[in-house]
Amino acid sequence: MERKKVSLVECRAYEYTLVKKSIVESFHNLGGIEKYINKGDKVLLKLNLLMKKKPEEAATTHPVFTKALAEVLIEYGAKVVIGDSPGGPFSERMLKGVYRVCGIDEIANETGATLNYNTNGIVVPNPEGKYLKQLTIAEMIKEVDKVISVSKLKTHGFAVFTGAVKNMFGIVPGLIKAEYHLTMPEIEEFSDALVDTCLCGKPTLSFMDGIVGMEGHGPSAGEPREIGVVLASTSPYHLDVIATSIINLKPVEVPTIKRCIERNICTGTLEDIDIIGEDISKFILEDFVIPESRTIKLTSDWMPQFVKTFIDNRTRPRPIFSHDACIGCKDCEEACPPKVITMENNRPFANLEGCIRCFCCQELCPKKAVNIHRPWMLRKMTKF
Ligand code: SF4
Ligand code: SF4
Repeated sequence: MERKKVSLVECRAYEYTLVKKSIVESFHNLGGIEKYINKGDKVLLKLNLLMKKKPEEAATTHPVFTKALAEVLIEYGAKVVIGDSPGGPFSERMLKGVYRVCGIDEIANETGATLNYNTNGIVVPNPEGKYLKQLTIAEMIKEVDKVISVSKLKTHGFAVFTGAVKNMFGIVPGLIKAEYHLTMPEIEEFSDALVDTCLCGKPTLSFMDGIVGMEGHGPSAGEPREIGVVLASTSPYHLDVIATSIINLKPVEVPTIKRCIERNICTGTLEDIDIIGEDISKFILEDFVIPESRTIKLTSDWMPQFVKTFIDNRTRPRPIFSHDACIGCKDCEEACPPKVITMENNRPFANLEGCIRCFCCQELCPKKAVNIHRPWMLRKMTKF
């Protein structure tokens, strides 16, 4: 299997000069910016802008990280476009709010980068895909010469971890993401779809903002945690192997990485990776908090539906709504792929019979009013 380079550079604060220096060093570690980007290239920085969250909440790519990367590229001679398709409807109004709250709109003014407001989707073939042989992606991807994925190192209730590979799911416009969840409700096939989407988006480079990541109930309701590292690679798959090794996860525990191993994209170990820069041991956090939504599958396709439902309801984690914290915004109702959430007296209730345990409701709740409950039997049967 072809060996890939992953650059690790220490950076412990969102101080502009420090972050910019770490990004320049990352390009150097990977062989130089000119190896990947031509002068005059239009480059999309595909950020993780999950929702309207302030930078200090560590749910989105930090604006200082984005500004530093944009400036390095612009000084080199590239044109920079900044974009993402966050959760919820993909509209100009929604993008304006997300760019403002996430601190990204100022970057455009300060650096000369442009913000994407094209919300069109286009259907493209995806010959390398396993499940998604064609998919709908945001047109912004086709308007640029190169794509750089700029993810945030975070835990994830459904996917365990969200990094470079899952960041590319944001090229799927708005609510179409929920359709993909619905057609592939099990984590195994959905993870294959995430890999398919990443293969389709073909990022030239992947950077990861691991200066402050998120532990616990990621990707939006967890706690910020200093990690102090900037990661970069030509391979989002190998980058995720290193990132998960840093945060107390065995790469093989992460469904997307497991799929990549089975598909011969990477080994899921350090065997096919050359780490350039700092020693990985400097960043390893053995007490990093992993989400409690991890599950085990005890049902099989041959079982009658009523048996599967009986077992699932006792052994699979489920969303619990805190009606005191809830403000009745309905974002969870809108985001729920199978539409099993209904609002009663301005508070959400989920019909667990149809719940696919995707935890989009938790992911997109602005008030951390959705928690994940792990049934007693699941806790007894698992060590985590
Ligand atoms: S649970 Fe969260 S997303 Fe759902 S209505 Fe309440 S505040 Fe909004
Ligand atoms: S209730 Fe929450 S976890 Fe269940 S399907 Fe809807 S969004 Fe997913």
